[in-house]
Amino acid sequence: MTVEKYEFKAEVRELLGLMIHSLYSHKEIFLRELVSNASDAIDKARYESLMDGSIAAAAGPWKIRISADREAGTLTVSDNGIGMTRDEIIKALGTIAHSGTMEFMKSLREGNATDRPELIGQFGVGFYSAFMVADRITVVSKKAASADAQAAAWESAADGAFTVTEAEKVSPGTDVVLHVKEDEKKYLDEWEIRSITKKYSDYIEYPVVMDVERERENAGGIKEKVREEETLNAGKALWMKDKASMAENEYHEFYRHIAHDAGDPAKVIHYRAEGTEEFVALLFIPAKAPFGMFYKDFKIGPALYVKRVQIMDHCEQIIPEYLRFVKGVVDSSDLPLNVSREMLQNNRHVEIIRKNIVKKVLDTLEEMKKSEYDAYLAFYKEFGRVLKEGIHYDFGRREQIADLLLFHSTKTGPSSFTTFSDYEKGMPAGQEEIYYIPAAAYEEAVKSPYIERLKERGYEVLVMLDDIDDIIMSGLFEYRGKKLKSALKGDVGLDKAEGPEKEKSKEEFGHLMGLIKERLGEKVKEVRLSGRLKDSPCCLVAEEGGLDPKMERLMKAMGQEVPPSARILEINPAHPLIETMKTLSEREGLTDALGEYVELLYDQALLLEGSKPEDPARFAQTLAKLMVESARHFS
Ligand code: ADP
Repeated sequence: MTVEKYEFKAEVRELLGLMIHSLYSHKEIFLRELVSNASDAIDKARYESLMDGSIAAAAGPWKIRISADREAGTLTVSDNGIGMTRDEIIKALGTIAHSGTMEFMKSLREGNATDRPELIGQFGVGFYSAFMVADRITVVSKKAASADAQAAAWESAADGAFTVTEAEKVSPGTDVVLHVKEDEKKYLDEWEIRSITKKYSDYIEYPVVMDVERERENAGGIKEKVREEETLNAGKALWMKDKASMAENEYHEFYRHIAHDAGDPAKVIHYRAEGTEEFVALLFIPAKAPFGMFYKDFKIGPALYVKRVQIMDHCEQIIPEYLRFVKGVVDSSDLPLNVSREMLQNNRHVEIIRKNIVKKVLDTLEEMKKSEYDAYLAFYKEFGRVLKEGIHYDFGRREQIADLLLFHSTKTGPSSFTTFSDYEKGMPAGQEEIYYIPAAAYEEAVKSPYIERLKERGYEVLVMLDDIDDIIMSGLFEYRGKKLKSALKGDVGLDKAEGPEKEKSKEEFGHLMGLIKERLGEKVKEVRLSGRLKDSPCCLVAEEGGLDPKMERLMKAMGQEVPPSARILEINPAHPLIETMKTLSEREGLTDALGEYVELLYDQALLLEGSKPEDPARFAQTLAKLMVESARHFS
């Protein structure tokens, strides 16, 4: 028999070290993790057995067994599930496949995860948590389905390496044997095992059994000790139960199991759809965003069951991405049991289920917003950014989603929110469009020169702080017939009434604007008088349909090609600087001095939109030179 030794990958080594030292206050969850792995393995075997009946026959009734051996100091969790081949063991128990793991480790390192043991499960590191209570672990596994499969044994003392050898095992499945640490022997107590199992694994569908010793009277009336198998968990398909008979705590415990979350969910949605499509959905809206929600490999979708048999643990076809925070179970009576991932695409039943779930979730959120505003706020802070994507991806429901959005505005202050609907109700007579300003921070937005005139008019401006906001709002285009308008783009034509006066200004400043354009050349597309500035001399704006500068920087940072888009320079005829430049231009034309003013003006406008002057050194030099000159006036 060959014993082969392997080094753990560096990240596993680090993780083991961190976990053993960081999560000491939640050691008992190791049992939940192992039972959960066993349950997953049986799910897979049961699914496979739909195609290959011999698997179920070989396994006997599906079961998870916990056995404690005080003398040997071992605790064993066994299942008759799918099992692993030698290669699968090396892969599953020697590496970490999830990309969010580095982040998880960072958070362990910084001590943030000590109170959030649910994070362990989320990154597929559940198995390793057993090293919190064991100084050595042996895993013996035999793959189901291949009759002549060779069993393999994996063993490690968490010292940087593990070994793999061939092993003897009669039936398919996996035994995880923990050699329990000297000071953790309490986990070998029947009572302890029973209470941990009840606490965390009650809803596991398969019986979790343990052999217990009991005194029984035999036929002759004499007491004797017998060992008998006892089932520790209730093992029911929770979602099939009647809603009225469910205790809140039952829902929450189940949620913690499927979502790997230690806290309670923000909302439970449990219903039975009848009629054209029959299914049961038990869905949860978590209270906290999980790590990795923005990673590519984040698993989306509730588990899909068909008549109580789990078909897949995450079915992304039954939920759109913008509701990817929703966890739960959907159990269909109409889908065939042998449904495959490919079949789920474009499947009529799936389409109906999906539509129904989306409606239910959005209606629930709407109701929450109406009657539990604080809870909704908490939800929104965690998931608003994701929900918003729905405006882009679910065009048919964009209005319903738009009504779920919350925004700060120039009137709410930085800690309260308004909605489109409230904004619309508060629009003064004469205001025809809904104004918003994308910004990096609230203070920056409300002080921005781009909204000076809007504020002066008493118009409310929505402050958009998410990076995707401008794209989303351009896509939404309007709300109840009111156009959405970015303060950074296009012309803010507030002054319809003052047409003739504006015409006059245009004439007066025409010459200066011509010279500015001449000096700046292709850097700006146009120079025009501003309808949005009040106290500031100038600003740069994008064209109506163009990209705003924040978006442009974001796309560049993501390595996307951004078409060159020259901006429009707006000047404020009421500002003394522009007034002075006008006088200069009329007296002497485009002199070097005026040219420098124009360059400085343009650089200021770049700074205001959050960009950098094109030539910062020259900008600083010119500014310094002007300061010296103006200082001379004083000396
Ligand atoms: P996760 O279960 O979140 O993927 P774990 O670290 O708990 O992460 O387990 C890693 C992998 O090891 C699992 O994905 C599975 O492939 C395999 N595994 C663990 N326990 C079992 C088991 N009892 N039977 C079969 N495979 C298992």
